[in-house]
Amino acid sequence: MAFFNKPISDIVAEIQSGQKSCTEIVDSALNKISEKNGEINAIITVEETKAKERAATLDALTNDDKMAKPLLGIPIALKDNICTQDLPTTCASNILKDFEPPYNASVVDFLENAGAVIVGKSNLDEFAMGSSTESSAFGVTKNPKDFDYIPGGSSGGSAAAVAHDLVPLALGSDTGGSIRQPCAHCGVAGLKPTYGRVSRYGLVAYASSLDQIGPIGSDIRDLGVMLEVVSQPDERDSTKNASPFVNDPSLYSGEVSGLTIGVPKEYFAEGLSDPVRKSIELVKEQLIEAGVTLVDVSLPNIQYAIATYYIIATAEASSNLARYDGVKYGYRSEEHASLLDMYKNSRNQGFGAEVKRRIILGTYVLSSGYYDAYYQKAAKVRTLITQDFAQAFGQCDALIAPVAPSPAFKLGEICDDPLQMYLTDIYTVSANLAGIPGISVPCGQAGALPIGVQFMAPHWREDTLLQLGYAVQAHQC
Ligand code: GLN
Repeated sequence: MAFFNKPISDIVAEIQSGQKSCTEIVDSALNKISEKNGEINAIITVEETKAKERAATLDALTNDDKMAKPLLGIPIALKDNICTQDLPTTCASNILKDFEPPYNASVVDFLENAGAVIVGKSNLDEFAMGSSTESSAFGVTKNPKDFDYIPGGSSGGSAAAVAHDLVPLALGSDTGGSIRQPCAHCGVAGLKPTYGRVSRYGLVAYASSLDQIGPIGSDIRDLGVMLEVVSQPDERDSTKNASPFVNDPSLYSGEVSGLTIGVPKEYFAEGLSDPVRKSIELVKEQLIEAGVTLVDVSLPNIQYAIATYYIIATAEASSNLARYDGVKYGYRSEEHASLLDMYKNSRNQGFGAEVKRRIILGTYVLSSGYYDAYYQKAAKVRTLITQDFAQAFGQCDALIAPVAPSPAFKLGEICDDPLQMYLTDIYTVSANLAGIPGISVPCGQAGALPIGVQFMAPHWREDTLLQLGYAVQAHQC
């Protein structure tokens, strides 16, 4: 617990009872951002004027109206690929650097209706493509625990903002690990919900069949509050399941006895660093002490997860990013003699290197002659991976796994080696391929650098993840 040193529901209760005001809380976040954001570059747009106005409006509500708002006065940072009306939404790309959407993402409306106050937009890898927040057009974000290290990515700005106490809560998006991995590297908690749990309306698409918005916070209980708010029904996203998450307070008793946790052997094989392995071993011991049964399980097709993910994600990205052509919105190059030149120059000057690499890869795997060999095969392997999980969940309630192979690496250490960077996603991408939920919970340290443990559960069982996450958190305190 950091920003408040207590769960946000306690703060909301204090505001509701008149002990604190929304203005006071929002001002404290804005002050922290102005004092400390320069050290890490987590927030790339600060929303000061509107945030103060909103706080004053919330303070003027009647008591009854205040009581109906579970996030009353809570300052929130949003990953900058989540559309905010009349407020820049850049995706950390030059191609969208001046883009102010004419509408809010559904999750933004849900948050604001619940009383939350958006104070800033947080940094990310360009278009959420990356694992280190180094590919942003607005500069790197630094790990708050050691400024020489990456915060993880692509939601590195959101995770770092929470870890550096700039805001108590943030939203990220997770296509292949981008909520869980930066949370692990920054020492905060993050949840990737089941695909379809949270509306993607207004989330700038990277890979639509994998993308999911989710909460980041320093207390597991706060994730449940935020998930309930953002998972409301939304007919503007046809993949959104009708049922919101119900945040049952009994999940946070610390009680986990009777649960069975699967230990997938493929996640603990070669390549896992010692500090991460040791921290997770400790969590396993604590769970056994708490009455959990551990069983060995196997996910035989997981070995193909990275290859499968990078085919499907790039294929979808190349298609989704075709819309940035300099015509309708976003950057338009001034240098052009023809329409074709205008498209080419706008895209060439607007996109960064990693985004271009993925567009080229994705276009290749979808091209005639290669579609069957790559895209279609990847789609079939995706089904096999999903079946592996279903089979494993026949024997257990959740799986335990690392989030990342090692603690955070140094800024600049592997950013010139895309393959190496892709391999760091090895433990996270499978949950997205299968559409299942995953949570990252702080569980240890290597020097100053945090380590996280991951739990994955069957579709729609975020409750099990929060229950387990809280038990781990309670043990760390
Ligand atoms: N690191 C992965 C990628 O670059 C995941 C990104 C994400 O989840 N947005 O695709």
